[in-house]
Amino acid sequence: MTFGPDQVIACPRCGAPERVFTLASSNSLGFAVWTDGFSHNSMAWKPPEIVACHVCNGFFWLEDAPVLGRMPNEDGSPEMWLGENGFEEVPGSRDPALPEWEQAPKIRGLGTEGYRLALGSDVVATPERLFRLRLLTYWNSNHRNRNQRRKKVRQKVPWETQNLKALLEMRLQRFAEGHDAADAIAIAEMHRELGAFQECLEWLERVEDVEGIAPFVEKIRELAKEESVCVEWVRGASFAPDDRKEAERMIRMLRRSREVPDRAEDSA
Ligand SMILES: [Zn+2]
Repeated sequence: MTFGPDQVIACPRCGAPERVFTLASSNSLGFAVWTDGFSHNSMAWKPPEIVACHVCNGFFWLEDAPVLGRMPNEDGSPEMWLGENGFEEVPGSRDPALPEWEQAPKIRGLGTEGYRLALGSDVVATPERLFRLRLLTYWNSNHRNRNQRRKKVRQKVPWETQNLKALLEMRLQRFAEGHDAADAIAIAEMHRELGAFQECLEWLERVEDVEGIAPFVEKIRELAKEESVCVEWVRGASFAPDDRKEAERMIRMLRRSREVPDRAEDSA
């Protein structure tokens, strides 16, 4: 994995510039996924989805932040992207950085306290965003148990369990509407983490045989039978159950980044 020049964004609340890393190259060798659907690739880092501004301390979704530009390449070469006619120069990528960009801090993701505060803030303006924030908060609450060498299970605190239950309700609603296997497997896993092992096993029976999902069913069933409430790494899985929807969201985001007004419009 190699990094490209930082992208510079503005806090949508106060306008302060902040820097986001970009990747010049990555691969899928470092991919790992856990029973709760959280995945990480040590060879393809992703920036946090929700961040806290260094200046105003407000929370915002990175996808909402206006893109101001990019730090120039050190050798002065332009940034390229795949356009309609093959590789094209990214507009403005040869432009020098503004002085304030040099000093701009790197974006800051949320810790446990940040997620607690964000859930009570105006960043959850739509049901889709509330779902996503609850999911990110839930994953964060399981991070403390992702180290395979841990000696004991670290429990969720009461408000994290409340968040898990609220997320479970949303998943149940989604399953009732779409009968998606990704929702069913997440429902089974959340029941297991709540200690409802029988319900977990019953939900696993309802998971349709979707390509690539079998390793999750096997692992969660094994853990439920052991009466374990702890998140575990899923061996042999090459994607997370929610990845299909996530891929659609990423495509929407990429399209959006192409629609960012270029500098001609800025100076108009
Ligand atoms: Zn701000």
